[in-house]
Amino acid sequence: MESQARVVIIGGGVVGCSILFHLVKHGWKDCVLLERNELTSGSSWHAAGQIHTISSDPNISRLQGYTIELYPELEKLSGQSVGHHQTGGFYVASNQTWYDYLKRERSKARYMGLDQEFISMKELADRHPLIDPSRYLAALWDPLDGDIDPSGVTYAYAKAAKKLGGSYHTHAQVIETNQRADGSWDVVTKEGTIHAEHIVNAGGLWAREVGHLSGLNLPVQPMEHHYLITETIPAIAEREERLPAGIDYEGNIYFRQEGQGMLLGTYEPKATPWMVRGTPNDFGHELLEPQLDHIAERLELGFERIPALAEAGIKDMINGPFTFGPDGNPMIGPVPGMKNYWAAVGVMAGFCQAGGVGKCLAEWMIDGEPEIDVWAMDIARFGDYASPDYGTIKSSENYERRFVMTFPNETLPKGRRMRTTALYDRLTQLGAVWGDGFGLEAALWYADGPEDAHEEPTFARSRAHDYVARECKAVREAVGITEIANFAKHSIRGPDARKFLDHVMAGRVPQPGRINLSPMLTHKGKLYGDLTIACLKDDDFMIFGSGAAQEMHRRWFESHMDGYDIRYANESRRYHGIGLSGPNARELLSRITRDDVSGDALKFRDIRRTFVGTVPAILTRLSFSGELGYEIYVEPEYQLKLYEEILANGEGLGLTHYGLRALMSLRLEKNWGAWTLEFRPDFTAAQSGLDVFINWDKDFIGKDAAQKERDAGPTIKLVTMTIDTDDIDVTLDEAILKDGECVGYVTSGGYAHHVQQSMALGYVPSDLAQGGTTFEVEINGEMYAARIVDEELYDPAGARMRA
Ligand SMILES: Cc1cc2nc3c(=O)[nH]c(=O)nc-3n(C[C@H](O)[C@H](O)[C@H](O)COP(=O)(O)OP(=O)(O)OC[C@H]3O[C@@H](n4cnc5c(N)ncnc54)[C@H](O)[C@@H]3O)c2cc1C
Repeated sequence: MESQARVVIIGGGVVGCSILFHLVKHGWKDCVLLERNELTSGSSWHAAGQIHTISSDPNISRLQGYTIELYPELEKLSGQSVGHHQTGGFYVASNQTWYDYLKRERSKARYMGLDQEFISMKELADRHPLIDPSRYLAALWDPLDGDIDPSGVTYAYAKAAKKLGGSYHTHAQVIETNQRADGSWDVVTKEGTIHAEHIVNAGGLWAREVGHLSGLNLPVQPMEHHYLITETIPAIAEREERLPAGIDYEGNIYFRQEGQGMLLGTYEPKATPWMVRGTPNDFGHELLEPQLDHIAERLELGFERIPALAEAGIKDMINGPFTFGPDGNPMIGPVPGMKNYWAAVGVMAGFCQAGGVGKCLAEWMIDGEPEIDVWAMDIARFGDYASPDYGTIKSSENYERRFVMTFPNETLPKGRRMRTTALYDRLTQLGAVWGDGFGLEAALWYADGPEDAHEEPTFARSRAHDYVARECKAVREAVGITEIANFAKHSIRGPDARKFLDHVMAGRVPQPGRINLSPMLTHKGKLYGDLTIACLKDDDFMIFGSGAAQEMHRRWFESHMDGYDIRYANESRRYHGIGLSGPNARELLSRITRDDVSGDALKFRDIRRTFVGTVPAILTRLSFSGELGYEIYVEPEYQLKLYEEILANGEGLGLTHYGLRALMSLRLEKNWGAWTLEFRPDFTAAQSGLDVFINWDKDFIGKDAAQKERDAGPTIKLVTMTIDTDDIDVTLDEAILKDGECVGYVTSGGYAHHVQQSMALGYVPSDLAQGGTTFEVEINGEMYAARIVDEELYDPAGARMRA
């Protein structure tokens, strides 16, 4: 065994082997994989081997497409058969809601370059004569889908990696991972120790145990899962052509041909987490006792929809465990707060996803960033609230909902109230309808009291529509109050704070008492943050940003601090706060502070430490609503007092609570984008329009790439459009078409209540990005006329915000 390596990958399942392959393929030859048993000894050997492209996140779908398209190359490179049957596959809908869902998926596929199309029920029956087409309304066909041999794929990655210069060792269990002072690792096995610059946890079923070796608690959970294989079915034996694969969402089943019979799997309504307290060390090539009663109901449904199954004998019933993460997506990337420690865990569809996971992780390690935005898989989307128990609860929920519809306005019930603020009970009593982000509850909108606080999940406008309209009206005409605990707050202090920020931020670093907006770029010029830099003193800065991305941004700041005399802290939970917005906001503020808050004394983008509502506070004049607005940050124990003072002093001003939905509506009529939607590493400063905030007179990370793009001009641009609709709005990822061709896609949108207009933001080719250009936007399969707005529909000069 080597004593030295650049990377040691722990775990020889499909994920670890793919990472090894991609690292050596991209040029890092001295990489070693260690496997405790034989390759595939975790969940990989007993997978059903079905492969498909559809996923909740478009970039994950894209990577699933990459994974599937890689199989022929992998087979050739390795000389190992992967048993790939590219039969094509279909997704069937047996009710209108699932049909709408499929239409939305097809819309996404248009711009992802995936070749999905609807086929008629007759075509469905022709392609899969065993299925009963009368049960279905629609079928979406994807030619990439099919099946593979799980062991073959895993060995193919390993063998191809070996041919390219990588190495792997079986029967080499990692028993310790000890970090040296320089951040490198001693990876200890009974056979020897490898000193490595980086380690990757690809421990699959043992991801938790491998994490514990380095003091890391991962919120992943193995779940029991069943599929059955039938005896020979004569109708299949007689066929020359292999049957296509299929997924029936409402029936909650997936199926494909296996030998001359069929394989049928299901996600049962009550999940069974496996080995909650830890995966045994001696578990290997074993299966679990089938629990037929768990899946009997689902199988019956499957037999109704594919009648030939009911007559076929069952040859094999498999119950095997595989690992889920809290939202069902993989957790990959550098672990925030740790040096040179990479995760590739919670990959629940390894044969659809491992290629993409390996590719992204290799790019991330070698180039410093993945080629595309991998936020939906980034381990940094969770924080320490994602405890092991949370992992079990949410993984179970995700397992149970694997084929259950989640609507765009739906929030999931499990693992809630992990983090709440001092106002939680008060706002609940008022009628707050809660959503959660980064484990923290935040009010989405306010109903008329707790009994009224409910909403039907839907693709169309919900009953919340009128309530949100009322909140928007109050902000535009009177004053709104909203909780802002969910914004991230990062502090950067010390003698080199300004120098450091000048380096990591592309924008202007403000003078004491002032605030500036700034993009933060990667080395390749991609957006890595749209942040608000506030200077309290010359060596004391606060950065406000996306609450969801707080660990991602922490990781970025911490990984660029070397050589600077600064201290960094994520102070998001040290400061909670309240926002006031609307023409009466100043009058209200003046009633609860002794400060002069007139327009000249507290200007737009000012910040100061002072006292508000009798408590110590950081007072800023900022607005994401496009109105005169203030954000008041206080330590959590002061928040209730501040809130009570505001309520007690709001008389006669039309003070109204508003939630996140209203805020997201108000920003639409100002053409403002938001992080994780318009602003994310898929786009650059010039494409998003955030280049207006760049300070070109200094050096900063990503400047070369940004300058090149400025000279050449961006190929796509962010635009804001009005959409002609009556009762439905865009949400995310709808295709934008010009003359029948897909030219872009929607990044967010909704109803702009004040201007009473359905709106969308999205990226289109630059030569089409002029005001007035018309498009069609596809919502649930229907085309709606869209038009780029010439200027902001509300207060284009920003006079009200700056008043
Ligand atoms: C019944 C069933 C059906 C499935 N069907 C499908 C399907 O149809 N399509 C699909 O895409 N996916 C399917 N899956 C999921 C798929 O199997 C997993 O996503 C995939 O196996 C995950 O791979 P992995 O490499 O992350 O984990 P694993 O396969 O668990 O690999 C982890 C490896 O790490 C090793 N290891 C652990 N600890 C150490 C240590 N300390 N030192 C060294 N090595 C260590 C283990 O021995 C193991 O080999 C199915 C899973 C099951 C159980």
